[in-house]
Amino acid sequence: MVMPQGTCPECKAAIHVDEDADKGDTIECDECGATLRLVGLDPIELDLESDYDDEDEDYDDDYDDDDDDDRDRYY
Ligand SMILES: [Zn+2]
Repeated sequence: MVMPQGTCPECKAAIHVDEDADKGDTIECDECGATLRLVGLDPIELDLESDYDDEDEDYDDDYDDDDDDDRDRYY
């Protein structure tokens, strides 16, 4: 029996995919911590979740630690 396995597009590490995983599931890479989306099952295909458009919002949250106004928004 062979475990389904894909490759991390970020660091090329082997990613073990749950046998009952579905398309659209997200998996975290053990090697680089990237969040990967399962886009294909046969063969296993993985995409970087950070390729998607919501990246900006995530960064805003990260840089929101101090009490500065929005005009100090970090790009
Ligand atoms: Zn990786």
